[in-house]
Amino acid sequence: MFIANLKILDIKIPIGINAYHDDGYINSVVEHFNKLSKKYSNLQPYDKEIEFNGMSVEGRGKIRKHFHIFYRDQVSEPLNLRTRAHEETHALDFFGWLNRLENKLLTEQGININFDGLREDLQDSYIDQQVRAEIGAIYTLKSRNIDLKELKGKVPEYFDYALDFYEKHKVNN
Ligand SMILES: [Zn+2]
Repeated sequence: MFIANLKILDIKIPIGINAYHDDGYINSVVEHFNKLSKKYSNLQPYDKEIEFNGMSVEGRGKIRKHFHIFYRDQVSEPLNLRTRAHEETHALDFFGWLNRLENKLLTEQGININFDGLREDLQDSYIDQQVRAEIGAIYTLKSRNIDLKELKGKVPEYFDYALDFYEKHKVNN
């Protein structure tokens, strides 16, 4: 039984026989992904000139799943924290441990979120996954008292949706 340590979220989870790799800061997300695509047959390399700030991918081994996260240095502490927490939340989601984040949101920040409620008609979509990951990012920024206005205009649209969802689930008492 292996344990994954999600450093920014400060959550440790059991991941069975699988593997979690935090590959850290890399120069190019696409180049790093293409390197991984040579290792794992389920990944097809990108041939376009594109770049991302961070990424998480599942590489399938013969019997184990390898979940990798990696990201670029955006030369901004809030942006780096947002990206790393976002990718770590994808890992939590992948391994089925979002309830650990639900517990922290409730006990540390008074936010009562049930992540299943973010699956429209219980069907999962790419956008739903991104919103869940963004709630992990918001949790991380709030836990460090970072003003979310510092990120305005530098984060994807679903950040605002996630923030709206977060604010609506404050426990009032
Ligand atoms: Zn994402």
